[in-house]
Amino acid sequence: MRAALSISSILSCATAALAHLGDRGEIGGCGSIATRDAVVLSSVKAQQLKRNARRNADDYHHGPIQTYWHVIHTNDTVRGGHLESETIDAQMDILNTNFAPTGFSFELGNISYIKNDEIFANTSVLENSTYEAIVAPTHVGGKDTLNIYTTSWLHVAAVYSNGNDSVLGISTMPDEEAVPIPELGDSVFVLYFSLPGNGGLGPSKSGVEFQGTTLVHEVGHWTGLYHTFQGESECDAVNDEVDDTPAHTLQPHALTDEPICRANPNVDSCPDLPGSDPINNHMNYVAEECRTEFTPGQIARQHEQMYLFRGIVAEGYDGPEA
Ligand SMILES: [Zn+2]
Repeated sequence: MRAALSISSILSCATAALAHLGDRGEIGGCGSIATRDAVVLSSVKAQQLKRNARRNADDYHHGPIQTYWHVIHTNDTVRGGHLESETIDAQMDILNTNFAPTGFSFELGNISYIKNDEIFANTSVLENSTYEAIVAPTHVGGKDTLNIYTTSWLHVAAVYSNGNDSVLGISTMPDEEAVPIPELGDSVFVLYFSLPGNGGLGPSKSGVEFQGTTLVHEVGHWTGLYHTFQGESECDAVNDEVDDTPAHTLQPHALTDEPICRANPNVDSCPDLPGSDPINNHMNYVAEECRTEFTPGQIARQHEQMYLFRGIVAEGYDGPEA
């Protein structure tokens, strides 16, 4: 079933954009896929944390989230993954613009460059070698610090890949057991050409251009959100644990050639449940031009998850209700 769902608008864009880099297989989607059991366990844990204040007020982080960027590359060219600082700055602007409604902001602390031919060519989060060679020596700060790594290929376990050979990005969640991938070391990984302007490569021959919303999606996970189609193939009213993202399945969005927000903005893959599909949501698999919003319910969940698990307080947030 997962393999059958792998052809998405994101996938076709990614494959086209990648063509000039060598056709190695199918790229698409995101590796941050939570199992039903993990979702339930994480929800129980959040309820326990709410009942038991775990910190002094002084221990909470307020203000911009310090962000450290780690550029894995194979040589000093853009095509070799060596992102220009201007490209990273443009990506940070896109991240902050899209997160502005959440009350979270991100401040770039430092860019480090890591030359590693093997891991640039194939960053596997199945193997501890990635953690030991890349993450452990470079990761900065604790759970209140965002670490972003860029690479050219992300190989994840089949359960996380939707059948793709490489995903566009992957992230841990505030509760590390919700998407338990210790090799990530509480980090976000994205493919370097998912940054605006294809990571500085410019338009591909097919005219496809990534716009930088892959990172917005991944940091959506890092701040506590599941996919809006959590569960993927079932109409489950609870699915992503957010009330105002109507239940939907992944497939109808994944199989449209034209971006779903233009082709069929009223698509409703779960007609027996309230609401049509959230085709403008950052946490759906839709074309980049369609991804424009986090809902109030998602923002409320981000506030609570970040407070409980990362000790980060969003601007204007007073803590969870008892
Ligand atoms: Zn995702």
